[in-house]
Amino acid sequence: MKFLIILYFLSAPQKERILELEKYKNLIERAAEEFNVDPDLLKAIAYMETRFHHTKCPSIDNKYGIMGIGEEDTIFINENLNFNPVSPFEMECETHDKGKTKIHYKGKIRYILDLENNIRFSAYLLKKFLEEENNDTIKAILKYFKGNELKKDRILELLKEGFEEGPIKVKGKEIKIPIKIFETPELDSIDRFIPAHPNNYTPSDRPYTYPIQYVIIHTTQGSYEGAISWFQNPNSGVSAHYVLRSVDGHSTQMVKHKDIAYHAGNWTYNTKSIGIEHEGWVEQNGWYTDEMMKKSAYITRSMINIYGVPYDRQHIIGHNEVPGANHTDPGPYWDWVYYMRLVGYLPNPDTIVDDLSKGFKRGGPYSSWWFKNNVGYGYGGHLFWTYTWTNPVLNWARWTPDLPDTGDYEIFAYMPNDPSFNAYIRYKIYNLLETTPYWVNQGDYTGAWKSLGIYPMPEGGNYINGCVTLGDTSNQNNKKIAFDAIKFRKIENINNFSSINIIDDGNQNYYSYGNWNLSSYTGYLSDYRWAYTYQNDSVKYDFSYLPDGIYEVSVFVRKGQNRTQNAHYRIYSQNGTFDFYVNQYSQNINEVKWILCDTFTLISPFYLILYSYSTTGEVVITDAVRFKYISPVSLKEERGEICFNYVLKDNKIIFYLNGKNIHVNIYDLIGRKIFEKTYYGKGKREIDFNFPKGVYFIKIKGEKEIVKKIVKIY
Ligand SMILES: [Zn+2]
Repeated sequence: MKFLIILYFLSAPQKERILELEKYKNLIERAAEEFNVDPDLLKAIAYMETRFHHTKCPSIDNKYGIMGIGEEDTIFINENLNFNPVSPFEMECETHDKGKTKIHYKGKIRYILDLENNIRFSAYLLKKFLEEENNDTIKAILKYFKGNELKKDRILELLKEGFEEGPIKVKGKEIKIPIKIFETPELDSIDRFIPAHPNNYTPSDRPYTYPIQYVIIHTTQGSYEGAISWFQNPNSGVSAHYVLRSVDGHSTQMVKHKDIAYHAGNWTYNTKSIGIEHEGWVEQNGWYTDEMMKKSAYITRSMINIYGVPYDRQHIIGHNEVPGANHTDPGPYWDWVYYMRLVGYLPNPDTIVDDLSKGFKRGGPYSSWWFKNNVGYGYGGHLFWTYTWTNPVLNWARWTPDLPDTGDYEIFAYMPNDPSFNAYIRYKIYNLLETTPYWVNQGDYTGAWKSLGIYPMPEGGNYINGCVTLGDTSNQNNKKIAFDAIKFRKIENINNFSSINIIDDGNQNYYSYGNWNLSSYTGYLSDYRWAYTYQNDSVKYDFSYLPDGIYEVSVFVRKGQNRTQNAHYRIYSQNGTFDFYVNQYSQNINEVKWILCDTFTLISPFYLILYSYSTTGEVVITDAVRFKYISPVSLKEERGEICFNYVLKDNKIIFYLNGKNIHVNIYDLIGRKIFEKTYYGKGKREIDFNFPKGVYFIKIKGEKEIVKKIVKIY
């Protein structure tokens, strides 16, 4: 019998939010009673307009407060209803057309900015319009939204399906909603196309007129329906290609990819970008839901695949990152690392470092560097170049990718589409195993990506063991050599795991026990930890997610004069424990490298322990550890016998006999013989092996010759 206990832990902000929602619920229900309107209708309006947030800044379509009341509604303010205006004040607000502006809240807006009055006024308006429309709810709602069909439809949809926000719950009702037909959007998974008003974008013929090189991430500062309406408004002067809804990732395309939407606040960026609006408020947490992030990542991924937008943070950017932009969206709650991973996990995740990307660095005399922009033969329209010479490197460049995962990557160099770049040159690939040189003649592959091979590369970005370099040395002088883009394509391993497995200090699967001190001097991915050798502390690198296999084990150490000469490591594997010792001492503090320790046959689950206690040195270092998968566990031949250690995962051993007699012995981990039998004849034989799961040593002996590969273990 199993008991499932679920505990809910609420953080302080979550509790605060629930109290806030309780307050809104009470105020809404009280106002509904005061004006005799349906409380669910009021709740649906607040849910659609603000998801129950009472903000003082106007929304994208100039609505105020929790109920999203428009300035134009203030003409209906009835002084007899005891509305108490809040005091005048000024504040900075993010708005969609004019950037950050100071708004002086005076006149009648002050009445509706008071929370209670905002709700009461909404109820009052609904009651008024219901009376005017002879209690026809749909007509009254349409009047409430000034004829906005989109908002009316969304309210009906919410009332039909029901919705929930913390303690505020509205059950669905039976309502008939006529089906609307929309234009077909350009991407398959987008829900509908609603064109922005022609005043709000420039028709064009991209990517012929302008290349599409950027995706710009925005926050609506208002509701999904409000943003769409605003882009349909002939006076707004703004638009975006896509608008996404927070609660479910519902998506609307509003401008065709070929046309130039007005969203970046920078004409050059408008011409070269796709704009995506995300429902929410920059200053409020909780709007960037998984559903919406995934839909957004799908659009961005599509722009990479269709138009070649580079997969990097120089081209997939926030509105705040557009030069000259005075906007702050998407703000602190937008998780860029998560978003880029979502984009990268979609099929074919290439990482491209171009010569204007952040990961590109170059050195050498400025007098011998040339830059070409707006040329058809360079990737992205540009490249750096210089001349070769036969002496040691003078001009050089380095491409460091910010990769989403550690693993095997195929690396490509872009060769410019101009045969005058025909130097025989050497790329160097700094990878997790070694530094590999790769010679190639740029003239042999004009206008193409040339593969430089497959290499294990680290996640994140670092130039110690995760970059590509190119220098100006060649076997010929005065040849033109181009420094353009490098592309990294993740290889999905057929074993479903990477051959290179690294656990760094501080990573997932790294556990420390006792007093380990962090040091931010150069270590693997910039840091390492240390402990005193007189202490009995330890560190665990948990590789239990890896399968059985033969592994080459290396450790990364920044050596030094106070380090132990015999750091004690121990592998715990299902077929035994294995100790090895590493000399971390060196006169030279700059000796920072991978040290190959040994090769082990390991049976899953296995892990590595490093002990701090040592008989030499003051301190012991813990940094990254690498298990490189070499091959599966193999059979060993020994004096006419096959012997092997194996974990029996189930209880059957299957043989295929070829007419010769064989003799099977099975021993347990401490060497006791627990099974012995001789088999005769031809065909399949089975041993029902009813011992507990564990490691057993199996010997198979033929009469005269070695019997090969006849055993299957299930
Ligand atoms: Zn924006």
